[in-house]
Amino acid sequence: MNIKIIGSGITGITTAYYLAKNNHKVTILEERRYPAMATSYANGCQISASNAETWNSWKNIIQASKWIFERDAPLLISLKPDLNKYAWFIKFINSISEHKENTLETCKMALNSGKLYKEISDEENIKFDMVQKGILHIYQNERELKFARETNKIYKLAGLERWEVNKNEIMDIEPSLSNNNIIGGFYNTTDFTGDIHKFCIELSAILKNKYNVTFIQKHAKNLNDELNNTDIVIVCAGIGSKKIANSIGDNIPIYPVKGYSITINNPGENSPWVSLLDDEKKIVTARLGNERLRIAGTAEFSGYNTDIKWDRVRPLIKWAESNFPNINTEDVKPWAGLRPMTPNMMPIIKQSKKNNNVFYNTGHGHLGWTLSAFTAKKISTLI
Ligand SMILES: Cc1cc2nc3c(=O)[nH]c(=O)nc-3n(C[C@H](O)[C@H](O)[C@H](O)COP(=O)(O)OP(=O)(O)OC[C@H]3O[C@@H](n4cnc5c(N)ncnc54)[C@H](O)[C@@H]3O)c2cc1C
Repeated sequence: MNIKIIGSGITGITTAYYLAKNNHKVTILEERRYPAMATSYANGCQISASNAETWNSWKNIIQASKWIFERDAPLLISLKPDLNKYAWFIKFINSISEHKENTLETCKMALNSGKLYKEISDEENIKFDMVQKGILHIYQNERELKFARETNKIYKLAGLERWEVNKNEIMDIEPSLSNNNIIGGFYNTTDFTGDIHKFCIELSAILKNKYNVTFIQKHAKNLNDELNNTDIVIVCAGIGSKKIANSIGDNIPIYPVKGYSITINNPGENSPWVSLLDDEKKIVTARLGNERLRIAGTAEFSGYNTDIKWDRVRPLIKWAESNFPNINTEDVKPWAGLRPMTPNMMPIIKQSKKNNNVFYNTGHGHLGWTLSAFTAKKISTLI
């Protein structure tokens, strides 16, 4: 079949891979000049079943309302009126009852996806600064640690081996950590990290050269137009998916949730190799080879805006300097991206209700890197 994919972020590139491997003739339309320049550019780089918990909980809503007037809070909700945002939040609250089953399903998808990434990178010999030292969650607050114990029961049901560690064990796992306020944590060795952008760029080259996938730079406006001379169109357009789905009357409930990252170049010897997740501050780290450390976090509900604001970047630098007092932060590169977030935090992997020849693989929110290999395989099987 002739298949067109809209978008060349991690969802589009992995979808193209599985379809091209199944001998379909694949074309990717991308409005930007190069692949993976939007949200799949400089994210937290964790492939993390241990971060599968959906955000739909009263605990998070209460916490967010306490942070509403704090400029440097991990979560910010702009007070600007926006009907899309209100509709999204109503659906978010309605999904609180699905928290446990969605967390369970996401964790299972993430575990499968991790295996698929290893298969792809072995088979195609992709180098993407992969570090297999697990992910360590750290806590400074007994209440959060208690919640983490409950979440860990769901992860266990999904098949993730993750165990509680005390302060001394934490320091053994990641000796560069120096934060006296840490009281405990959770650790697993299945999760891993790697540079999403490098992965996408390397796999794009393989798609072009080995699997004859065509890349066209184009902004797709109307799905009916894109269906001309093509059997199937698959929308993998991240935060652009909602608009393009509207062109055939599909409602894809994605809201752009902004996040920031910093890449610390030459962080020095006193910086971490084990990937960390600070649950209270909502900050993650990933080591990208000897010379780079990525630190990412924050969530902001403020529409389609990727401006970099220093009062959002500074807390990430401060976090690095307080947890790793001897880290070198002379060379720091900030970035901001928009997570394509659905209200129940589940990716949309389905056929259109309006046109049988249109499919969606989008809405991966805060876990697009983690889940894409799995959802790409799933949509290709569906097709
Ligand atoms: C700060 C931050 C940290 C994160 N950390 C992690 C992490 O540690 N682990 C994890 O699993 N996930 C993480 N994520 C989430 C992850 O980065 C995203 O879920 C993922 O990159 C989304 O991929 P995508 O392919 O859906 O979207 P994108 O990467 O945005 O790709 C969509 C592409 O479609 C193109 N496009 C859009 N509309 C059109 C159109 N009409 N015509 C043509 N082209 C179009 C865009 O230009 C873009 O290239 C993080 C996100 C952020 C912001």
